[in-house]
Amino acid sequence: MLKMIYPDIYVDSIHDIALDELKKSQIKGFIMDLDNTITLWNSNEISMQVEEWFKKIKSMGFKACILSNNGEKRIVKVAQQLDIPFIHRAAKPNPRSFLRAMHLMGLQREETAVIGDQLFTDMLGGNRAGFFTILVVPLDRREFIGTKISRMMEKMVIHKIQPQKGKK
Ligand SMILES: [Mg+2]
Repeated sequence: MLKMIYPDIYVDSIHDIALDELKKSQIKGFIMDLDNTITLWNSNEISMQVEEWFKKIKSMGFKACILSNNGEKRIVKVAQQLDIPFIHRAAKPNPRSFLRAMHLMGLQREETAVIGDQLFTDMLGGNRAGFFTILVVPLDRREFIGTKISRMMEKMVIHKIQPQKGKK
């Protein structure tokens, strides 16, 4: 049972996925989690790097489909911006929605990989459906560390800067 929640590979972010290697092992498309994998939790904003990553995978011939337990409204903007299909209210880890995503991309089981940040939804569902699974560190955790560091830097310099008054 425990084995079913383990990913095949674990990387820091989507940018650390060895795309060439996956291509060599016949992976042709990605089922993508939304929250904390490509956007911050409950956000519609996609960073430039994420947008670039999607351009890159498309230029390499990979397909992609967003699979999210969230409602349509939340996902549609992101999917439109990235120009990829999506499935909402996916009831992950139910493997049925994963298989639907695979069919949407027109792929076979062994050609499909799942990318997500959660063991009990993304990895469990992906493994149950028989896909290659890739776990990423949640975006907000990385963001949190980044924010902490920049706050620290702010504190270090802020006392040296006095707000200017009366001058423009
Ligand atoms: Mg997630």
